[in-house]
Formats: sequence, C-alpha cells, structure tokens
Amino acid sequence: MNDLLPENIASWQFIEASFRKLMNQYAYAEIRMPIVEKTELFKRSIGEVTDIVEKEMYTFEDRNGDSLTLRPEGTACCVRACLQHGLLHNQQQRLWYMGPMFRHERPQKGRYRQFQQMGVEAFGMAGPDIDVELISMIARFWKIIGIEKNVRLEINSLGTNASRAAYKELLVEYLTRHKDKLDEDSMRRLATNPLRVLDSKNPDLKDIIANAPKLLEHLDEESEQYFKQLCIQLDRLGIDYVVNTSLVRGLDYYSQTVFEWVTDALGAQGTVCAGGRYDGLVEQLGGKATTAIGFAMGVERLVAMVEQADIAIEPGQPDIYVIVAGEKAQQVVFPWIETIRDEYPDISLLVNCDGGSFKSQMKRADKAGASYAFIIGDDEASENKVCVKNLREKQQQQKLGQSELLQFIGNNFKN
Ligand code: ATP
Ligand code: MG
Repeated sequence: MNDLLPENIASWQFIEASFRKLMNQYAYAEIRMPIVEKTELFKRSIGEVTDIVEKEMYTFEDRNGDSLTLRPEGTACCVRACLQHGLLHNQQQRLWYMGPMFRHERPQKGRYRQFQQMGVEAFGMAGPDIDVELISMIARFWKIIGIEKNVRLEINSLGTNASRAAYKELLVEYLTRHKDKLDEDSMRRLATNPLRVLDSKNPDLKDIIANAPKLLEHLDEESEQYFKQLCIQLDRLGIDYVVNTSLVRGLDYYSQTVFEWVTDALGAQGTVCAGGRYDGLVEQLGGKATTAIGFAMGVERLVAMVEQADIAIEPGQPDIYVIVAGEKAQQVVFPWIETIRDEYPDISLLVNCDGGSFKSQMKRADKAGASYAFIIGDDEASENKVCVKNLREKQQQQKLGQSELLQFIGNNFKN
C-alpha cells in the first residue's frame, strides 16, 4: 500500500480529471460505494474458485461477528448498490466510479495491495452497441492521456451460458488428457471451474493453453452473430484489435464479450484495462435478469505509462507567493489577498505564514515554484501598496495600489 506524495500527484490528477471529463462527454453518472462490503457479496459474484476469493481478499470479522471484506473490485459493489436503491428498475444506467481496491497479492511492480481503479458499468443494454460505446470511449481516453500508441486491444467472446457449457465438456476432456502437465491450481480448477485454467499465469502451461480447443470456434449461432457485429462496428470506427482466444478473464461472472487493453511498456503486469459483459450477475445477486457490461482500469499502471511517455503535465504550483514582512504588513495582508481571491478565483496564491526574514521568504517563494512574489513590507503597508516582483523573468519591480494590482493580475494571468 503506497503513499502518494505531492511530487507525484500531478500525473494522478491529470488522469483522474481526464477520466471525469471523458465520462461527461459520454453522459455517464458517477456512483460512489463504500470500501467495505459483506464478504458474501464477493463470494457470490466473483466466484469461490477465483484468485481473488481464494487468496486475495482482506476479510475480517467486525464487532458484531459479521464477516466483512475490503472491496477487491467495484463491479459487485456497484450491482449491490443499484439493487439496493432500485436503480435498475425498468431503466438503463450508465455509471462510473473511481477509488481504491484491496487485494492481498505478492507486491511487485504494477501489483499492489491497495490500488486505484476507474471503472464503468452499463446496465439494461443487450449489446453489442453498448460494447462498442465502451470500447470507443476507452480508445478515446488513451488518446486524451497520450498513450494510444503503447496499448493494444484484445477481445474474445465467451458466448452464451449454453454455448459455454458445451465447450466446457470439450475443454475438460482435453485438459484431462494432459493432466500430468497441470499444476496444483489448475488441477483444482479442472474439477471446479475448467475455463479458469485458461487464465493461468504459469508459464509452464503456456503451450497446453495455446493448443486447447478454442471457445471462439464453438460458439452458438447467437453468440457468433453478436461477436461478428461487434467486430464490424470496431472496424468501422477504425479501432484495431486482436482476437485472443484464450482471454477468459479471472472472474466468474462474464459472458459474451470480454476484452483487455494491454501494453508492453510495463513489463510483466501489462493489462491496463479489463472488462466484459456480465449478463448473469444482477440476477445472481437477487435482481431481475438485467444485461450488463463494464470495465476497470488500473490507475497505477496508467500513471506509470504516462510518466514513461514523458507527457508534459503541469505540476500544481502557486502563481503568486505573498511575502509578508513586518507587523503592519501582517495586519493588512489577509484583506488584500482575500479581495484578490474574490476577483480571480482561478489564481493560486500562497501566503507566507509564520514569519521569517525577507530573504528566507524569498527562498520559499522560489522553492514553491511561484511565478510572482507579491511583497508586503511595513513601507508598502503604510502606503497601501504591494510590491510586485517577477520571479521567472527579468522585469522592473513595481509598486501597485489595490485597483492597479487587480488590473495587473487580470493582464498577466490566465483566468
Ligand atoms: P491479473 O490477471 O493481472 O491478476 P485481474 O484479472 O486480477 O488481473 P482485474 O480484476 O480485471 O485484474 O482488474 C482490472 C485492472 O485493475 C487490471 O487490468 C489492472 O490494471 C488493475 N489491477 C488489478 N489488480 C491490481 C493490483 N494488485 N495492483 C495494481 N493494479 C491492479
Ligand atoms: Mg489478479
């Protein structure tokens, strides 16, 4: 679990603000769920035989003896919230969220125990048009944050439940034939959830997985048409993709379209966004059958990419540092500065507090990265003026009265 320090916050704010703007562009509404949910919710939705539920959840008993879990992902929480508040009652929903998720994983580059996701869930639309909307909004996002050349889209179809069931038999037969080469996790999954074997990260299983029968080749007519329509629309939009037949996603609740955006820029942890359709989940959690699709992005990985790509992000620095030297100055400074803040709400002003010599205050102004110092000493205070000094460029220092000063700010700062 990491602290995010002020020196690294600019890329975070850039990515989060860009995502908010994007959500507004597509008319999605924000939803905020609590960080803790009943453990049962995740067991029922994500699935008992998944990495998350088997070994990654932070689960504890609270004082009442209820089993609670720090949320490992947002989808289950979002569905729970929608059901609880009747948001899915005879209506569609387009929602987004952002916030911390928790998984007890082995910490490594790109994998943390508290990490940040930004995600979208869309309910009540059977697709594939909404699938296209989601994928195109993500493609747009990569352009906005400047990493579109470093990510690629992989898609697959898991088909309907019926076509998946038929395929499962084929897969089990194939895997059973290669039993001797499976690892312990996969052996267990072969019995409980064979599709999940395809999601194994064990490099020793790579060949077995690559040669397994392909779900995509065993889709029923309905699923095949669905997938074809999705591909046609992505082609129309000029969105490149690769069909990855062993993409199954690590969670139980997916059906039909699944997708991941991956990168080679980050080493082993290359998935920056993952999502898919989960038409069965709402009903499984006690609601009426409702079609749904969503995705989540891992923000740490996006920050790493943006930083690697050297995308210029303006750090949050004050525009003006206000130097306050002397007792008289102390008495007049706040009314002055508050007037400026009234007039120019977008200007960032840092007022020196806790005294210090003129020289040490100038040093602080420089360190803060301000473009101007506004100096109020006792002389200025008695003249009812402020001394303006440009800290970046050579410029004549000037002493300005209140209205001149406001005019100066209007002329010299973007507001
Ligand atoms: P993996 O197969 O790599 O474990 P996952 O299937 O568990 O991934 P999802 O649950 O789909 O991952 O999460 C969506 C995205 O959230 C991931 O693509 C990744 O960008 C990010 N993510 C997931 N787990 C972590 C983590 N522990 N630390 C940082 N980011 C993460
Ligand atoms: Mg995982």
